[in-house]
Amino acid sequence: LKDYVNGYVKSSDMVVTTDTTIRLELPKKDNGMILSKNLYLSCDPYMRNRMNKTVKGSYVDSFTPGLPISGYGVARILDSTHSDFEKGDLVWGFVNWEEYSLITDTKSLIKIRHIDDIPLSYYTGILGMAGLTAYVGFHDICSPKKGDFVYISAASGAVGQLVGQFAKLLGCYVVGSAGSKEKVKQRHVDLLKNKFGFDEAFNYKEEQDLDVALKRYFPNGIDIYFENVGGKILDDVLSNMRINGRIAVCGMISQYNLDRLEGIYNLHLLIFKRIRMQGFLVFDHYHLYPKFLDMIVPLIQEGKIVYIEDTVEALENAPAALAGLYTGKNVGKQVVAIAHE
Ligand code: NDP
Repeated sequence: LKDYVNGYVKSSDMVVTTDTTIRLELPKKDNGMILSKNLYLSCDPYMRNRMNKTVKGSYVDSFTPGLPISGYGVARILDSTHSDFEKGDLVWGFVNWEEYSLITDTKSLIKIRHIDDIPLSYYTGILGMAGLTAYVGFHDICSPKKGDFVYISAASGAVGQLVGQFAKLLGCYVVGSAGSKEKVKQRHVDLLKNKFGFDEAFNYKEEQDLDVALKRYFPNGIDIYFENVGGKILDDVLSNMRINGRIAVCGMISQYNLDRLEGIYNLHLLIFKRIRMQGFLVFDHYHLYPKFLDMIVPLIQEGKIVYIEDTVEALENAPAALAGLYTGKNVGKQVVAIAHE
């Protein structure tokens, strides 16, 4: 990161450098360090918050200008003086955005029991943080039941595509929105409907009046809104919610690059419609990860859950990939592949 960021993050806010003077060797004495080769990096919307001098909320720290940024990733351990890890292990957790790392803080690292027919990169998303977010956010926060009418914004992204499929597996009626033709209709195949099995899908950028669009897809109202976006979409959703509806506030990506947040004018409807609106952070729910993994892996293997990644190759392309999240360039989970093994 060159410096703290104001406004929309651009790829030029980051720089990729090479330092050949660093010796990638662990000190001889046993001090619990790991040398990793970083394979896949996850681009996540919350990372923009870490580019502010002062982060909003206190769940993460700011990145330090001049140093590599960090985030979730998949790595192979090349050497270890840590008793829990050995050479050859695969892990996911926090890694720096660099090709090789000396890791002292191993708290976030989870060992991967690699399953042959599942790509390793999936641990940046469906088998990692985004997957657990979708699982907890939908099943725990939304209190869903069969037949509920569910609306998901940013529906083709890492979290959204999974929430929609979890809702379909439960027997809900699911509508998703996304911001480009390519996402709603990809190469003449409807991504949200045909690939993920949603009942309906629309491009919110093509709708002149979102309130009208929501009434078209939910003539009887929305039971569950899975909120990924915030701003105007939230306002229009509020006026289309049903009595006793639930809103899981997962994220508000439309607000992350703004200095001054947009106003929400329909919050009073929470009262009249007895809506429960609840924010959550996946970090509070990691104890559910083993249970989640046992549930999701067979679903992937049986083809009952499908998953789309948008992968760019090489660290040089990582800044643009990360910045692209906030303009909707990614189609599916945005991954950076630094190396494949
Ligand atoms: P995505 O893969 O969905 O990528 C982000 C997408 O957001 C873009 O592709 C774009 O899709 C959409 N978007 C970007 N800017 C805007 C905008 N101004 N208005 C409307 N849509 C926009 O990201 P994730 O699935 O990783 O994350 C989805 C949400 O979940 C984010 O808000 C994120 O912060 C949140 N999150 C929360 C967690 C928690 O613990 N609470 C954990 C993980 C994620 P489109 O084409 O549809 O515009």
